[in-house]
Amino acid sequence: MSDSTFIKPDRKTEEDTKAGNYFIANYPPFSFWNEKDIPCVDSLLNSPSAGKAPLGLYYHVPFCRKRCHFCYFRVYTDKNSADVRRYLDATMQELERYAGSSYIGGRMPKFVYFGGGTPSYLSAQQLTELTNRMKAILPWDEAEEVTFECEPGTLTEKKVQAIKDFGVTRLSLGIENFSDHILETNGRAHRSAEVFRAFQWARDAGIENINIDLIAGMLEETDDNWSECIDRVLELSPDCVTIYQMEVPFNTTMYKQMKEQGKLSAPVADWPTKRRWVAEGFSKLEKNGYSVTSTCTAVKNPDQTKFQYRDQLWGGADMVALGVASFGHLGGIHYQNITHFEDYCSTAEQGESLIRRALLTTEEERFIREFILQWKLGSVRPLYFQEKFGIDIIERYGSIFTEWESQGNLEKKTDCWKLSRNALLRVDSLLHQFFLPQHQNAKYV
Ligand code: SF4
Repeated sequence: MSDSTFIKPDRKTEEDTKAGNYFIANYPPFSFWNEKDIPCVDSLLNSPSAGKAPLGLYYHVPFCRKRCHFCYFRVYTDKNSADVRRYLDATMQELERYAGSSYIGGRMPKFVYFGGGTPSYLSAQQLTELTNRMKAILPWDEAEEVTFECEPGTLTEKKVQAIKDFGVTRLSLGIENFSDHILETNGRAHRSAEVFRAFQWARDAGIENINIDLIAGMLEETDDNWSECIDRVLELSPDCVTIYQMEVPFNTTMYKQMKEQGKLSAPVADWPTKRRWVAEGFSKLEKNGYSVTSTCTAVKNPDQTKFQYRDQLWGGADMVALGVASFGHLGGIHYQNITHFEDYCSTAEQGESLIRRALLTTEEERFIREFILQWKLGSVRPLYFQEKFGIDIIERYGSIFTEWESQGNLEKKTDCWKLSRNALLRVDSLLHQFFLPQHQNAKYV
């Protein structure tokens, strides 16, 4: 792709999109997770579950039809059906290890999340068999939410029905954009006609919560096209809309191209433009009855449409991670699985631990993690942190709150502190100041 095909940011500024991770997904940063803490997970699994933390399951499907230029996940586009079968078997061996442990055995998951990669890459038959096997090992019939990520072009009517039948309550469609030209330019495998078809099948199947993902700032995005994307969303009228702002981590093909061309700034819109697009999108959605519920989501019925996976996880829930490179959190220990396919499968087949790095967090780190992540929902409640951690956040961070208030970024409500819309859309850049000194300026990955 020649440079001339890329959108030029409005001007060269400090706010250009540079390479690297911009958004905060967890705390402490991943670069502090290590091999030394891996045995802590095994000791935890051998002890009875002490707390009352809800349990979740995350299942990673690492297959995709094509690799998008902005993708930074562990995905494979070259696996055959024997590889897929081997992987599914390996994940079931992994689940059996957890289900047989004192810490997890007998507990009922409250939420389940199928992410990727592309979970909908699997056939209806593979999915039905997989979920039957999972339920036989660790029943999740009582889960209040089962989320399933889909790439629209991989769905068929039969597959959507199978997805509904094995218990999915929240279907997340990775649409990203409605322009076929932009989808093509960014390396997406699907086209917009497939979106409308898939959405209707999901509605006809009666899936209660349908989410649409968009990305503000894809290669060649324009004001007019973005505005049309929001109009198309309103026509579909999903229960939830998630709008990500484009970031360009180092392991993307977009970064590889920047490096080859000796460029420091990514060939996408700058941060103020991306934030403006999200702000305009949110404002149009609000005019049409939606409520903004986090830095990237708007929902039609906030009382009914919940996102348990995010809310439980950010509130300190336990989550078992299944699959290559997936991230979990158990009893205050963060961990990530082996990140290469062959290594993952063969280690599972030998019945050995699949964990590659872990971090036993302190109470202080767990407090900061929740405090940071909950800002991304738009507000924090002092009473929550007082009751859970015995920490008075006003006493501790009063001077920051006062500064934010004076800048118009924060407003005091009866029981919480609420971010302004402007601050919410750039909240990730405001949160590093709450990191402990040893985590400041750390590499995030
Ligand atoms: S579909 Fe999603 S996971 Fe797959 S390559 Fe594209 S961004 Fe990555």
